[in-house]
Amino acid sequence: MKKIYMDHAATTPLDPEIFKEIMPYYTEVFGNANSQHLFGRESVVVVDRARDIVAKCLGAKANEIYFTSGGTESDNWAIRGVARAYAHKGKHLIISAIEHPAMLTTAKELIKEGFEVTFAEVDEYGFVDLEKLKKAIRKDTTFIGIMYANNEIGTIQPIAEISKIAQEHGIVFFTDAVQAAGVLNIDVKNPKVDMLSLSGHKFYGPKGVGVLYIRSGLRIDKILTGGHQERAMRGGTTNVPGVLGLALALEKAIKHLDENNKYVTALRDHFIHRVQTEIPHVILNGHPTNRLPANANFAFRFIEGESLLFSLDMHGIAISSGSACSSGSLEPSHVLLAIGLPEGTAHGSLRFSFGKHNTMEEVDYTVDRLKEIIVRLRDLSPIFPKTEKNVVFDKKAN
Ligand code: PLP
Repeated sequence: MKKIYMDHAATTPLDPEIFKEIMPYYTEVFGNANSQHLFGRESVVVVDRARDIVAKCLGAKANEIYFTSGGTESDNWAIRGVARAYAHKGKHLIISAIEHPAMLTTAKELIKEGFEVTFAEVDEYGFVDLEKLKKAIRKDTTFIGIMYANNEIGTIQPIAEISKIAQEHGIVFFTDAVQAAGVLNIDVKNPKVDMLSLSGHKFYGPKGVGVLYIRSGLRIDKILTGGHQERAMRGGTTNVPGVLGLALALEKAIKHLDENNKYVTALRDHFIHRVQTEIPHVILNGHPTNRLPANANFAFRFIEGESLLFSLDMHGIAISSGSACSSGSLEPSHVLLAIGLPEGTAHGSLRFSFGKHNTMEEVDYTVDRLKEIIVRLRDLSPIFPKTEKNVVFDKKAN
């Protein structure tokens, strides 16, 4: 059976070149970067190199880069760490309604601790409503957290405008760039962000390693307490091969950013065009153009997304019914509900996220299978109006 991977927003394979480069740091140069002997010093050199590379990639200083265990920890640290550090000034936080669960669930935990959180609304495309954002700001607001780009529908936020609003009000601005890093040009000074998170496994780096950029001078509490690693801000033995792998993968992604984006955009646009012209009753979720180059998210009306996902899986095609973390639950995606989709339509939505190893043939194969499966599922569907003709359009006829 063919195996086609179209779920790159969930994770990407580790680049074999990078795997080769980091291997010796598991087996040969294995010292604890905190140890005071030769072995430790060898590892420190590697970690320093990784930190320098990441800093350069983001337009930051090396001492503003903190290594973590991934996007989830970085997001947790950003919102929790700032909320607690500024609690004496105010206890109101703003995040968008379409943040990743790493932010949303942490915000909900903070509410239990006595903080107030406004979940900023988004429009039908998933853009944060800037007027409503301004209105939500209060004297006691200490934190604004808005993701750079959404993991489900790919919408890229107006980060420059949001940064300006936060700066005008003297509020800490954090952006979750887990889906944007290595795909969009990011410079933490322009537009200015106070904190930014990213995760190695989203750009062909290793899993379980991430970064939190913290602008120097910003006050933030630690949340992972332990040893004196990461300049005493984050306890835990440094994942030496992991941080190097992350840094090299980020550097490589940025080096090839334009060509990679051009390639996946062509695949994605071909996919979108075929779906929109050959399958009736589909809605492209998110903005038609202002979206991540690899992302397509469709609502296939009158169909259960899960049934479609499993049918594609039987053909060896891997896609996602939402964010990797919420799939498996029967709740419709909070992102799709926030952009105003009715529950049923949200349930029929699927995310296709392309990568540099996908081919046009794979895209065509996927659309061909989609067409067959959709006819079958709609035939079985009690909600498909009997007055509608259950047809798909022939590619050649269009
Ligand atoms: N933030 C966003 C936008 C994501 O897409 C993800 C992962 O899907 C995360 C955070 C969590 O990152 P990690 O898997 O490294 O914990």
